[in-house]
Amino acid sequence: MSLIGSTVLGYPRIGPRRELKRALEKYWAGDLEASALRGVARDLRVSTWAELAASGLDSVPCNTFSYYDQVLDTAMLVDAIPQRYRDLGLTGLDTYFAMARGRDSVGALELTKWFDTNYHYLVPELGPDTKFALTGDKPVAEYLEAKSLGVDTRPVLLGPVTFLLLSKGEGRLDLLDALLECYAELLGLLAGAGAAWVQLDEPAFVADRTHEELEALRRAYDKLASLPQRPKLLVAGYFGDFGPALPILANTVVDGVAVDLVAGREAVDRIPAVLGLRTKTVVAGVVDGRNIWRTDLSAAASICAQLMGSVGELAVSTSCSLLHVPYDLSAEKSLDPDLAARLAFARQKVDEVVVLGKALKRNDPALVKELVAAGEAVRKGVEQARRDDRVRAEIAALRPEHRRRAPYAERAEIQNERLNLPPLATTTIGSFPQTGEVRKARADLRAGRLDEAGYAERMRAEIKRVIRTQEDIGLDVLVHGEPERNDMVQYFGEHLDGFAFTDNGWVHSYGSRCVRPPILHGDVSRPAPMTVAWSTYAQSLTTKPVKGMLTGPVTILAWSFVRDDQPLDVTADQVALALREEIEDLEAAGISIIQVDEPALRELLPLRADARKEYLDWAIGAFRLATSGATAATQIHTHLCYSEFGDVIEAIDGLEADVTTIEAARSKMEVLEDLAAVGYSRGVGPGVYDIHSPRVPSAEEMTELLHAAVRAVPAKRVWANPDCGLKTRGYGEVEPALRNLVAAARQVRAQL
Ligand code: GLN
Ligand code: ZN
Repeated sequence: MSLIGSTVLGYPRIGPRRELKRALEKYWAGDLEASALRGVARDLRVSTWAELAASGLDSVPCNTFSYYDQVLDTAMLVDAIPQRYRDLGLTGLDTYFAMARGRDSVGALELTKWFDTNYHYLVPELGPDTKFALTGDKPVAEYLEAKSLGVDTRPVLLGPVTFLLLSKGEGRLDLLDALLECYAELLGLLAGAGAAWVQLDEPAFVADRTHEELEALRRAYDKLASLPQRPKLLVAGYFGDFGPALPILANTVVDGVAVDLVAGREAVDRIPAVLGLRTKTVVAGVVDGRNIWRTDLSAAASICAQLMGSVGELAVSTSCSLLHVPYDLSAEKSLDPDLAARLAFARQKVDEVVVLGKALKRNDPALVKELVAAGEAVRKGVEQARRDDRVRAEIAALRPEHRRRAPYAERAEIQNERLNLPPLATTTIGSFPQTGEVRKARADLRAGRLDEAGYAERMRAEIKRVIRTQEDIGLDVLVHGEPERNDMVQYFGEHLDGFAFTDNGWVHSYGSRCVRPPILHGDVSRPAPMTVAWSTYAQSLTTKPVKGMLTGPVTILAWSFVRDDQPLDVTADQVALALREEIEDLEAAGISIIQVDEPALRELLPLRADARKEYLDWAIGAFRLATSGATAATQIHTHLCYSEFGDVIEAIDGLEADVTTIEAARSKMEVLEDLAAVGYSRGVGPGVYDIHSPRVPSAEEMTELLHAAVRAVPAKRVWANPDCGLKTRGYGEVEPALRNLVAAARQVRAQL
């Protein structure tokens, strides 16, 4: 057995200081020439290659750069450009951005989540008249560009089968043969240019796949591997266990397979039995590419040791591309040093892979010592993590089933009496437009131009305005508008113990957009009420009920970097306990309706079906731990913003909220049938106003949607509300739209 060394499957591309973001946004605004944008892009590629080559990695990836998205790059590469974008008659670069962002009257391609990450890709549109042709040369150009700088790289391509599976269009797998022609041609060009290895990413196969799809994988790699002139092929599966795809690939003559041994840890035990791998390179993804904790390198080394001897060659790598973590921990100046000692961002993870690779290859005692030290540091960090015995004891003491004391029918009666709302009660989802003044007040507070008292005064003024506006519009249940929240997760993270924030820990979300997730690093607890002052102030201004507004435990986890030293359910319960305490305080302050948003419930759903029940059990458990302490008189709402629930539909019923508000406008209330089918029989607010578009819906169209709703569900259980929060919209659209919504509800009510 020999060892070829170390690599990473991909690297962030937005720039250590988000240089690409700035350049893109200037270019789109017409303030930067295309040539200058290309210059910024080139500089970023050059510095990435230089950095990775200098780090000592044995194989440096290329073609990991993108102006917008790697799936869109692939569509451009093979000429899968829908006619409506060609008709714009733009340059190649502007056609590309038109597909990404829309242009004039032509909308953008659909944007959707990249597997279970917070990155989003553009969905290619394929159809019977799609004619693939290798019209692009990006991978070859990047390879040659790196080579001219003296770095021999490994081009990374999105694999053909995953490309088809991520696209939309009937019969897209029928296009495989035509697509393989393009890939074959491209591999020939890359071989001619001198590329020794090419990486083909097939993450679609860490999810459940049909027999036909697995067959397509086999056919694709039988064909590509049999090409006479080609680089060595490394097929990568990440975000989970390659499952049945692994023996299929092992039986082709591809040269290597990259496996994710963090999310797909179980594969370690199966690999030695896969005979085909004995003659292949196995790239072991043992450094977590999706989280920010330092790796226990001694544990990683023993995983590698388990594989040695049963595979042809072994290389070490990250579990997936490092696109999903921030660039560099050394850019953080204000993190607590004990916490910083537990962290590794992309740059640090590269170093981990290098040390591990060298130690395994050379068995050098100094390097082995470094591994042992890394393992000890991680264990010590875990021991030092904030521990809160009160929180642990309280969770242990709660009834494990976390149900409210009174059954729903009884609660509904008590709540109806208390709230006295009409059928089709009108409300909104929480946030109102964040005006320039609100953002300025927040910036002024941060910069020290405004003190806490001055800031609170501005927020109260805004809340008052929002309450008056809602009263004037005639809504039945009001909200305070969330002006104090920069972000629905960050706000809570900042008010809870156990979270930390970075200065520069940006992670790519899509296009030019990045997010800076909080770091959940220790036991979570609530030192003081988080929302009570805002909610009670809002309630003091009106006789109508004002909803308390919280973010649920699953969503807080989904949009943070979460500690990995204990199971997620333990962490979720701690967040839930803090929310439970907040609910108790809101109730005591007289708030009668409390909404707990869980827009990310579906996001964390495991890619493979057999892991879903366990996830949903703890996710539902955490939500119920948060909400089940509420008295019967308190109406608990939840909000989810998507209309295709698929496998989470039963879980939504399982949350046992008194009212569930959901996105439904675009799908024309279809979701009501889905909910009825699983026996959901509590209050429901199907969105009648699609807030994703600036369009103002008419009262007539909302009336129609509400009529459809009351045909499916008894009117006394139906609420009238928009699809989601109004934060990203302007008052110019929101006010008329909400007036129409109130008019529509009144009209349908009158006809009951
Ligand atoms: N209450 C939040 C808001 O209105 C909910 C946002 C969401 O579900 N994404 O902004
Ligand atoms: Zn929403």
